[in-house]
Amino acid sequence: MTGKTHLIIGALIGGAAAAAYSPGLEDSLLFIGVSAFSALAADLDGPSMLSSKLTKLSRRIRELALWGGVIYLAITAYLYFSGQPLSPLWAGGSIAAILIGLVMKQGAIRNALVSAVGLYLIYHGAIHEQVWLIGLGAFVAWAPWLKHRGMTHTLWILPLWGWLGWGLEQELGAPGLGMTAILGYLSHLVADTLTPSGVKWLYPLIKKSFKLRL
Ligand SMILES: [Zn+2]
Repeated sequence: MTGKTHLIIGALIGGAAAAAYSPGLEDSLLFIGVSAFSALAADLDGPSMLSSKLTKLSRRIRELALWGGVIYLAITAYLYFSGQPLSPLWAGGSIAAILIGLVMKQGAIRNALVSAVGLYLIYHGAIHEQVWLIGLGAFVAWAPWLKHRGMTHTLWILPLWGWLGWGLEQELGAPGLGMTAILGYLSHLVADTLTPSGVKWLYPLIKKSFKLRL
């Protein structure tokens, strides 16, 4: 299921929830935003719409490390052969940069960047004493390292996600926002259940993948 499909379903659910709970325009956008984000969040366990910008950035970082290292090393070699004093720090640094460019997979760099966003949310939540934001940050920092369609695609994550949404609901005083977050997230799991690889709803208790063909 593509990110775009999840996004559209999530936005529709958010629109319906806004109509049911709170018909004001500003609130509608909030409900749609929360539901759409919830509908995309499960796929933070891999390259997704939410992390696509970071995927591009991680490619840049990898290329920069590789080519920057090669250029540094070339300069170091030139200095060495022209008989000038050599800085071990520069030589070591350039070799380290080349190794990072060669060994670190783009996916690992992207995951690290997503986790950095999560850590920032945790930091922000800690400063402003927003427990739900700390929880959201923990989810964002943790999700990219999980197997795709693993823990983020289970029944167990739903109450947790609802708890995060409920925290936001309390903070903004917008009744129904927690339920909207749950419905948005649930829509992702249901939509993935309709795909050939299905969803392991009860993982890791039951490793069976549930699928529904329409
Ligand atoms: Zn998914």
